[in-house]
Amino acid sequence: MGSIFSRIVKGELPAARIYEDDDTLAFLDINPASRGHTLVICKEEYPDLLSVPPNLVVAVTRTTQRVARAITSAFQPDGFNIVQNNGAAAGQVVFHFHVHIIPRWEGDRVLAYWRPGKVEKSELQEIADQIKAHID
Ligand code: AMP
Repeated sequence: MGSIFSRIVKGELPAARIYEDDDTLAFLDINPASRGHTLVICKEEYPDLLSVPPNLVVAVTRTTQRVARAITSAFQPDGFNIVQNNGAAAGQVVFHFHVHIIPRWEGDRVLAYWRPGKVEKSELQEIADQIKAHID
């Protein structure tokens, strides 16, 4: 059966489509945070950023830029957020790789941000080294 988004790709479920090419599709989010909140997906189903092949990350990023330019031209937001959730703990609900484009207007408060924390400078390098050891 596939994910909800695969069913949209196949035309089995309706969506307010904006743009598509061979690898990607952009359509409006059904529960928008703001006017023009758009999802960009790769048509092939991969659950998240870790599993999607790099060429499809590039394709989705290209479509994201293209659609963000169109949204900016259509609605003149003051800015926009690109959000990409991975894992339930990070708020992912649909396990089919996608990027949110969320147009923003001054003072709209539609997104909550992380709380800036504190860390020792020495610990920063330790953390960086731990990650570096796992770079392929
Ligand atoms: P995420 O939390 O990153 O997995 O986001 C999933 C998003 O998909 C949510 O913002 C939902 O509102 C949106 N969504 C779920 N079902 C549909 C649908 N049928 N059409 C459009 N957007 C959807």
